Amino acid sequence: MDGREQLGLLRGTGRCAPFSETLAGADKGPIRAEKIDILQLNLGTRCNLACGHCHVQAGPRGDKAMSREVLARCLDLACDGEVSVVDITGGAPELNPHLEWFLGEAGALGKRLIVRSNLVILLEEGYERFIEIYAKNRVEVVSSLPDWRAARADRQRGAGSFDRIIRAIRLLNERGYGRESSGLVLDLVHNPAGAYLPGPQKALEREYRKRLLDDHGVVFNGLYSITNLPIGRFLEYLVRSDNLVDYMADLCGAFNPAAVDRVMCRTTLSVGWDGSLYDCDFNQALGLPVRRGMPGNVADFDPGRLREREIVIDNHCYGCVAGSGSSCQGATVS
Ligand code: SF4
Ligand code: SF4
Repeated sequence: MDGREQLGLLRGTGRCAPFSETLAGADKGPIRAEKIDILQLNLGTRCNLACGHCHVQAGPRGDKAMSREVLARCLDLACDGEVSVVDITGGAPELNPHLEWFLGEAGALGKRLIVRSNLVILLEEGYERFIEIYAKNRVEVVSSLPDWRAARADRQRGAGSFDRIIRAIRLLNERGYGRESSGLVLDLVHNPAGAYLPGPQKALEREYRKRLLDDHGVVFNGLYSITNLPIGRFLEYLVRSDNLVDYMADLCGAFNPAAVDRVMCRTTLSVGWDGSLYDCDFNQALGLPVRRGMPGNVADFDPGRLREREIVIDNHCYGCVAGSGSSCQGATVS
């Protein structure tokens, strides 16, 4: 399904008012950017996995990859004093041939560097070296581990993936990742293995910490819980399982006006593989670029105009403002 079809489905579910109306009713719209604190780069659509919840629908046949030229331009943007975090995602970022070079350059900028890795890739031949590359450049590694129970995690990421993720965490722990004293950060991401909202983040973190240590002897720094946005492969699952209407009703029913103030698009600018600019990775997956009239590509980046842009919203945004709120950094309100 392309972005237009996905948005058509989300607008037609019947029980949810358009997101813009709900925002206006709560006196929270329109949403405007406040600054460009996080530059999030989507390095492409190729991935060694094909997870059931993947909003970008990445997989082994993904053929989009950010070029070195676009990455070099992103480095220039990251030098902008306002950007404090460079957040790298994909696909599997490690499958982009320029990642190692980029991390070396970006590591020298003194900004927070995050790579969203599926970890399974770190066990594959030729990619083990990224553990050392990450440590050398003080990269914070963030990985989805949908559940601490193998069966539930495997349901989303594929058979055997849980065991491989645990093995990769063990290797990262041996290098110092996840251990307080090392300064090397390993954060995990929980997301529900079905059509329901995540539980409280703090309680989940305690549970993950205990179970992963007791059962597998591995440690991590923090846990983010993320609501599955009803797009991409997760939307296909909702349609297939006849859960779309109920899931959307759950999201709208849990609308939290306080979470609107903390949506990540207020502080993030997302860059696509070809340099196109988006308000977030979800809008990117749906093919919704920054508002018309704004600089639309890294080639004509203009921080003065972009930092005050109005955010492009639609019904998928209900996923970011339900319950405790959801962002790439986890829950946004306590
Ligand atoms: S969710 Fe992540 S690991 Fe899974 S297919 Fe998508 S990009 Fe790959
Ligand atoms: S989906 Fe994107 S644009 Fe919508 S609220 Fe979430 S971060 Fe903002």
